[in-house]
Amino acid sequence: MKYHIISVFPESTSSYLESSLLKRAKENGIIDVSFYNIRDYTEDKHNKVDDRPYGGGPGMVISAMPVLKAVEDAVEKSENPLIVFFTPHGEEFSNTMADEIKDEYTDAIFICGHYEGVDARVTQILKTKNVSIGNYVLTGGELPALVMIDAITRRIPGVLGDGLSVEENRIAPKDPYTRPECFEYQGEEYCVPEVLRSGNHAKIDEFRKEN
Ligand code: SAM
Repeated sequence: MKYHIISVFPESTSSYLESSLLKRAKENGIIDVSFYNIRDYTEDKHNKVDDRPYGGGPGMVISAMPVLKAVEDAVEKSENPLIVFFTPHGEEFSNTMADEIKDEYTDAIFICGHYEGVDARVTQILKTKNVSIGNYVLTGGELPALVMIDAITRRIPGVLGDGLSVEENRIAPKDPYTRPECFEYQGEEYCVPEVLRSGNHAKIDEFRKEN
């Protein structure tokens, strides 16, 4: 899966992609991430990416043209891309959406808004899939891009150690425990539930289902 991040601050996402599972997936050639700085697609000498909103109101809006050009560039480097636009008013992201994207597309192009958002003509022209990652407002679409990259990537076969690590394929512990078996904290003793130490897998599964 190839991801393309279009943003005014694309570098803000890079450190998360350089650790743990996503780093390994990149090294193994399972995913690839490209960055497009909207500023690089401006034509004026100050590389201005935003302007005041028509109709008045606070904040600035990212202009359409540099975003459209950045998307053109990403599309050229893609096979079968989905163009995602991040907005708090979009369809809420879920595992189901992650699977649909992973199964139906080779590339996901993420348009990350910032400030008061992006000129509405971008979504009208590109007929983007408008996605929200939850019922709250963030400063930009960079975290939503990372959330989607993480959630989609861990569902690609071969990314996690074994297929059983994807939650739906097993009875995942909601409350996990690890060593030591017991410890004392502020005068109280805290122990791992007896059944998890029993080695009886049928009972362990039953306990996890109940919990
Ligand atoms: N007033 C703007 C609006 O209602 O769209 C808020 C813009 S927000 C400060 C800046 C950008 O962050 C948005 O254009 C969008 O790309 C991203 N964003 C903020 N919250 C989001 C969310 N819950 N899900 C997805 N993207 C979000």
